[in-house]
Formats: sequence, C-alpha cells, structure tokens
Amino acid sequence: MTLSKIWLSSPHMGGNEINYIHTAFNENWVAPLGPNVNGFEQDLKQFIGNNKEVAALSSGTAAIHLALIQLGIGLGDEVICQSFTFSASANPIKYQGAQPVFVDSEKKTWNMCPKALKEAIEDRIKKGKKPKAIIVVHLYGMPAMMDDIMTVVKEYDIPVIEDAAEALGSTYKNRKCGTFSEYGILSFNGNKIITTSGGGALVCSSEEKKKKAVFYATQARDDSPHYQHSHVGYNYRLSNICAGIGRGQMEVLEDHIALRRKMHFFYKDLFASIEGIEVFEEPNDDFYSNHWLSTITMNPKLTSGITREDLRLAFEKENIESRPLWKPMHLQPIFENAPYYGEKVAEHLFEEGLCLPSGSNLGDEERERITNVVLEIFK
Ligand SMILES: *Cc1c(COP(=O)(O)O)cnc(C)c1O
Repeated sequence: MTLSKIWLSSPHMGGNEINYIHTAFNENWVAPLGPNVNGFEQDLKQFIGNNKEVAALSSGTAAIHLALIQLGIGLGDEVICQSFTFSASANPIKYQGAQPVFVDSEKKTWNMCPKALKEAIEDRIKKGKKPKAIIVVHLYGMPAMMDDIMTVVKEYDIPVIEDAAEALGSTYKNRKCGTFSEYGILSFNGNKIITTSGGGALVCSSEEKKKKAVFYATQARDDSPHYQHSHVGYNYRLSNICAGIGRGQMEVLEDHIALRRKMHFFYKDLFASIEGIEVFEEPNDDFYSNHWLSTITMNPKLTSGITREDLRLAFEKENIESRPLWKPMHLQPIFENAPYYGEKVAEHLFEEGLCLPSGSNLGDEERERITNVVLEIFK
C-alpha cells in the first residue's frame, strides 16, 4: 500500500466556499465581475486595513504587472528586485521591456538587504540610470525589514511594490504586509495560505489607483458607448466564481494562519535536539510571520555530513514532499545578464535550505510520518 502524499502546501477548503459558488450560479453571475468579486475585495480591504483599496485579479503575477504599468515602467527602465524569490516577482519587469537589477537578502529575514539596496541604487545612479521601482518580497511569510528599507527608499524617492504573495496576515510592527508602500500584491494560487484556485490582488494606496487597476485589468475601455481604446488593456480581472471561493476562504484565514504557525512550532520541537539544523523564525517581536512555509537550513559540518538533499530524498521515499529554497533570480538562465548587488547570502540559503510540509490541513498522522523520517535519518 502506498501512503497518501503529504504536500508542501495544498488547498484547504473551509466548507462555505461552495455556497458562494452556488449563489453565483443561481444569480447567473458566471463572469469576471459580480457580487463575489466585490464581496471578496471588501473582505480583503477590511482584513488588510490601513485605508487600502483592493483590486481582485486573475493572479499575483498580473498584480505585479499592473503595478509596474501604473508606475509607468517601460522599455529600458531599470527595476530593482529581491533576488531571493519566485520568478513571478521578476518576470513582469521583462513583460514591460525593462531591466531587472537584483539585490541580495540579509540573514535575519532572508528578504531584501537594506545595505545592498542602497549600494545598488547609488551604483545604478552613478552608471546613469536611476531605478524606477523596487520590488520587495516577504518571502515564506516573513516580513522584510520595512523600516530600514523605507528609510533607504525615501532618500531616493523611488516607489516600492511589496510582493506579499506569501505573506497574507503577516505583520511588521503590527502592520500588515502589503500595506507599507504605494502598491502591494497578494496571491491566491492553489499553494498559498488561502486560495481561489488561481487569483491575486493589487493592494492600492488610493481609490483612484484601484480604479485604474480595474480599468487596465478589463481591457482598458474608454468611457464611450462603443469600444474605444486609448491604452493597451489586459484581461486580468478575477472570476466571480473564483472570488466565491475567496470569500469562503476569508472566513477561515485566521484559522489557517494559526495552523501554519502550529506547523512551525512542531518543527521547532522536532529539530530542537538535532545539531546543525536551524528552523527559520522571526528575529524578534517586531516580526510576525504567517509561516506560509516552514523552512530549515542544514549545516552538513554539524549533521555528520547529512545534507538537505539526503533529507529531501528520505522524505520522498515516504511520499512526503519537501523542496530546496528558491533559487536566486540572478542565478537563473532567464536573468543571466542582469546586474546583481550583494554578498551571496541568498546563494548560501539556496545551498543549505529546505522547505517542509506546512499545510494548514496537516494533522497528527502526517506529523507522525514526518517525525519518523527525521528520527530515522538522524538516529
Ligand atoms: C506565488 C507567488 C507569486 C505569484 O502569484 P501567482 O498568483 O501565482 O501569479 C509572486 N511572488 C511570490 C513570492 C509568490 O510566491
């Protein structure tokens, strides 16, 4: 008998999602607009706070793309982006014909290093081009050092896009990730802390910016009885069916955060007595992570030579998914020639780090299987 697969992060329905979908069918709102889209936006706005407006979109990637468009990023412009992230943070820079400039992480939060950021901005200006935007990521749900980053950014007056795709519900100094700058983005892909099967949102600092996002997301139709276009538009709005899933998921978001954090504390206990393994955690009380994924770093010098790949394969044998940390963007073939600033912190993390099963739908049985693999390999 093969054991059922334990995923890193799989969809976890609360139960009410289907009712919102039924209502949409009953009222024939089977379209990329309708009461669920409006309701989901309302729920997100309330959750996020800080007077933000939220535009529900077809993906987090679309949200980053629209933020870049609204900031006027175009051909030949330079955009700074955290190197240690998923490719979706950086790809939209390319969509606009712009040039990504990658910045390394610091060791405490694994997110953009304020010092490397400053160095990058100053060097790009010296080389003749001031970066036109900065994409900061709250990776694995861990808030970036926003105070230090915003201090650097204000000095040069460059707009920031916060990629909070993995950090819905995380806070820095009690403020929600995604609300520190002009634009924040969220993702509701199948593997995120809540899902709409596929979807995302742009968090905007004004009603006007939200309206503009919806305008671009719905083919940029001018105000006219016929189809009149003076801008290139996109088909990026969220479906009313998917938004129904989102409304049901919002009802269980706080539970999901609590359960993901429970997984983190489970790993803290599990690895407490194993030398050479560190469970990634908040540096201090200013940071509150939703712990979207629990992650560890392994130092083979201290684990009697057991590497993260040995552990990954041991999990795989028991049908348990684990995965190396994100491979930094400046090492990716698609971004081969992009400038990079930093001291290889992200490269080091990629070499030693592993993401562990973290879903809010994992129970005692799954935790026991995970425990057994770890005890066996480190016995
Ligand atoms: C998932 C993710 C995205 C993209 O979101 P989609 O909804 O999948 O397009 C962007 N950035 C990060 C860091 C992500 O994890």
